Amino acid sequence: MRKQIAAANWKMNLTYQDGEKLLDDILDAGISLAPHQHSIFAVPFPYLIMTRSEVAEEFNYHAAAQNCHHKTSGAYTGEVSVEMLQSIGVNYCVIGHSERREYNAETNEILAAKVNLCLQHDITPIFCCGEPLSVREAGTQNEFVANQLKESLFHLPANSLKGIIIAYEPIWAIGTGKTATTAQAQEIHQFLRSVIADQYGATLANEIPILYGGSVKANNAVELFACPDVDGGLVGGASLVASDFIAIIKALK
Ligand code: PEP
Repeated sequence: MRKQIAAANWKMNLTYQDGEKLLDDILDAGISLAPHQHSIFAVPFPYLIMTRSEVAEEFNYHAAAQNCHHKTSGAYTGEVSVEMLQSIGVNYCVIGHSERREYNAETNEILAAKVNLCLQHDITPIFCCGEPLSVREAGTQNEFVANQLKESLFHLPANSLKGIIIAYEPIWAIGTGKTATTAQAQEIHQFLRSVIADQYGATLANEIPILYGGSVKANNAVELFACPDVDGGLVGGASLVASDFIAIIKALK
């Protein structure tokens, strides 16, 4: 079975102490994950070592960075390189979250460079794509997201693409409480898989986890994750409340 993933995105929230307590509360719930199920915590940089050590003894729980820089090293004050992440044992990194695309002017080209660096350093990119409301209203969301994949991922050889996780996150659903319907989520996830299949073949396309993100909550996760092409979620707001995120992990197929 394809990997099923509940990924938390804490964004710029929580103090170190609050983050540690949240993680403890979630891990104390003792949810044992099946071999195909994973839970990933994308935390602020200063919390990565703590998160890594908290999940170290747990089966299929992982720490992730929320971003990395697109250059290897050098005079980029305030930035964090993939080599730094690798050196503290971080194996996952969110790439191209819509907030970074918007507030930090991250282009598809820059994101392609980040994806390359992650893969070179054994870090699995959780590559985010998704359309703004205007595109959804114009009905051109398929072309929009297909282009994001083409420009940031499709230069990769098949054996590299295999190591990617995709998160489809319609911008109009992020932090708005407005979730895509299961029909909308399934339709576009299936489309994304078909775009990958056209380029790399159906076998590979069927192996890639495609997460849904956008107001996933404890009360809609089961329904969303039940869609055949939805392989879990990337969760913002609801990942900050232990009982909510516990329910979301339990909703994994
Ligand atoms: C996100 O941060 O990627 C996200 C989907 O946020 P929320 O769950 O709050 O909509």
